[in-house]
Amino acid sequence: MNTIKENILALQARINKAKDTSARSGDDVLLLAVSKTKPVEAIIEAMGAGQRAFGENYVQEGTDKVQYFSEHFPQQDLEWHFIGPIQSNKTRPVAENFSWVHTVDRAKIAQRLNDQRPDNLPPLQVLIQVNTSGESSKSGISENEIAELARLISSLPNLTLRGLMSIPENVSDHHSQFAAFHQLATIQKRLQADYPSADTLSMGMTGDMEAAIEAGSTIVRIGTAIFGARDYRPGNSRPKEQ
Ligand SMILES: *Cc1c(COP(=O)(O)O)cnc(C)c1O
Repeated sequence: MNTIKENILALQARINKAKDTSARSGDDVLLLAVSKTKPVEAIIEAMGAGQRAFGENYVQEGTDKVQYFSEHFPQQDLEWHFIGPIQSNKTRPVAENFSWVHTVDRAKIAQRLNDQRPDNLPPLQVLIQVNTSGESSKSGISENEIAELARLISSLPNLTLRGLMSIPENVSDHHSQFAAFHQLATIQKRLQADYPSADTLSMGMTGDMEAAIEAGSTIVRIGTAIFGARDYRPGNSRPKEQ
């Protein structure tokens, strides 16, 4: 098996190759390392390869990791992105610990994140999660609901609207993957015309990263290709108290 460091270097090469065929080759693509279910040792190894941006899905696990790293590695200046579903009674730890949230999908969540963002932190960087495939099982709002939520977010002083995120239907052929990503990219360009800060497109995971970058992704969220398969048994990833 490759090491985490080798995996990150290989991914950076894949990102650069895909960027060459991208619709927006000038834009940078951020590699977000999705560390959910993974122990702090794996994150430390990724840090050793120069990785700074990490994504977490679960409020308690993610908050524990943010606090562990700010205590034990304060000089590393890591950037933490919340990419999981948010319940309204769990917004406070997200507002207090993360720099980015990719999964804002309703007014109530936006309002609570704004109200709970501590005054001493910069505004929370927010993406609206969009459901382009129309599947009822997936979270995210439909295209015609974006304008109203974008208007609200941009009016809230402790949030900055940065763009859109999606988790499209899981398909394996490149052409269908590209079509869904291209649709989101088109919507994002229109949004950015109204809100210049909305310059970000979070799309692409281990299985569809190339198609996402070719369609204009600016953040790819990669777990498996960095850290290997996940083990969802409880209790294997929360940092232990030292
Ligand atoms: C788990 C997860 C990822 C990473 O998926 P991989 O297929 O392991 O790369 C990306 N985005 C979200 C929203 C996730 O929940």
